[in-house]
Amino acid sequence: MTAATMLRLSYAAVSDVGRVRKDNQDSGYAGPWLLAVCDGVGGAARGDIASSTAISQLRRLDTEPVVESPDDLLGLVSGALHRAHDRINELVDEDASLNGTSTTATVALFDGHRAAFGHVGDSRAYLLRNGELSQLTKDHTFVQSLIDDGRITEAEARVHPHRNLILRALGGPGDTEPDLFLLDLLPGDRLLLCSDGASGVLPDPRLAAVLGDGTPAYAAIELVRVAIEAGSSDNVTCVVADVVADDGSPVVDAEGEELSPMLVGAAAELRRRPGRAPMTGLFRAHRSGDTGELEPVPDLPGDVHAIPADPIDPEQARYAPRPPDRLLWLRRVLVTLMLLGLGWIAAAAAWSWSQHQYFVGEQDGMVVIFRGLNADLPGVSLSEPYETTDVVVDRLPDHLRDQVAAGMAADDRDRARTIVQNLADEMSPAQPGAARTGG
Ligand code: MG
Repeated sequence: MTAATMLRLSYAAVSDVGRVRKDNQDSGYAGPWLLAVCDGVGGAARGDIASSTAISQLRRLDTEPVVESPDDLLGLVSGALHRAHDRINELVDEDASLNGTSTTATVALFDGHRAAFGHVGDSRAYLLRNGELSQLTKDHTFVQSLIDDGRITEAEARVHPHRNLILRALGGPGDTEPDLFLLDLLPGDRLLLCSDGASGVLPDPRLAAVLGDGTPAYAAIELVRVAIEAGSSDNVTCVVADVVADDGSPVVDAEGEELSPMLVGAAAELRRRPGRAPMTGLFRAHRSGDTGELEPVPDLPGDVHAIPADPIDPEQARYAPRPPDRLLWLRRVLVTLMLLGLGWIAAAAAWSWSQHQYFVGEQDGMVVIFRGLNADLPGVSLSEPYETTDVVVDRLPDHLRDQVAAGMAADDRDRARTIVQNLADEMSPAQPGAARTGG
C-alpha cells in the first residue's frame, strides 16, 4: 500500500432520542467526504434548530475537496464552522425565542488520504487503529479544564455536577473558535464521531470493544444501544466510518446496496416535519420506569466518590453558564410562603432550612461562602458571609466571574469549599480578565 493509494469511507450514522428526553436535539451526517455530529444546546431554546442548522451548513462540504494543501482542507472546515455559527446567530436575531440556542460540532472532512477535523464543544472524535482506541478531540468543558489541572480524574468527571457545562459552542455570544487538526488515514482505520450521550456513559474499553465489532452500521447501532442500556439519559448519536482502499467499485452496505449520504437526528426530523414534534426512539420501547429527572450515575471502580447529580436540568445549564436556577426558584417559593404569612411554624421551619443552605458568591471583590438563601427581600438579608476566601473575583475567567456574581449553589458546606477550591485553581496569576479555560 503506497501513500498515494486513494482511500474512501464506508460509513453509517445513527441517532436516537434515548429514553428520557422528549425530543432529539442531536444531528448527525455521514457521506463519502464528510462526517459530522452536532449536539444542540438550549433546552426550551430549541437546540434542535441549532444542531440542524449547523449540519445543513457543514454538509455542503460533502464533495471531493479540491485543495492545494492540507492547510486548505482545514480552511474549508474552519470556514464552514464559522458560517454555521453566523447562521445560528442570524436565526436568533430573527426569532428571539431562539435566544440561548447553540450547538457543539465535531466534523471530519476527508480528501481520499487524510481527514481535517474541526471541533467545538463536547462531542467527540475517536480513531480505532489496530484495535487501539484514541480520542482525537479534547472536550471544551469545565470538567476537562479541571482534569487538565489535575484536580479531578476522568472517572470523577463523568459524575461531576457540572460535567454538562461546555465552554465553547457554535451560536451564542461565547467562544466559538474551533480546534482544527489533520489526521493521515490508513486502510483499516475506523473513525467514530459521537455526542456526549454516548461518550459520557461508555468508558474507553467498552467503547473500543463495541466500536470494533461488525460493519460500521452494526457498530453505530450497537454503540447507541449500549449507551442507552448503560443509562444515558441524553440523546445519543454515533457516526462510524471505515477507511478502505478505493478499488473503483461502489461502496455498499451489508445488504449490497450502494451507500448514500445519511442525515440523522433533529436535522432529519425537522426536514420531515417542520416545527417541533415529539420523537420516538429506536430504543424507547425498552424504557423501564425512569423518571426523566434523574441523571444516571455510572458504577465507579474502587472507592471513587460519586458526586450526587445536580438538581438542575443539565440541558438548561449546559452553555452560556448560568447559576443553577431551580434551587433559586425553590428558595423564592419558600420566601414567598414566608411573606404570605402561612404562620410562624412554616417561617421557623424555612429559616431553619435556610441555615443549612450554602452558596458561593462575591463580597468586596473576594469570593465568599455564604450561609442562607441566595435571594433578597427588600430590607432583609437572607444570607450571611460564612467563610471568606483569598480568591479574587477579578482574576477569574469571565464565565466564572458571572457565575460567582449570580451565586453558585452548593449542596452543603463541603461542596461550597470544593467549588471555592476549583475557582482558586482557575484564578489567573496576574491581571484581571485573563485566560479562559478549555483551550
Ligand atoms: Mg448531549
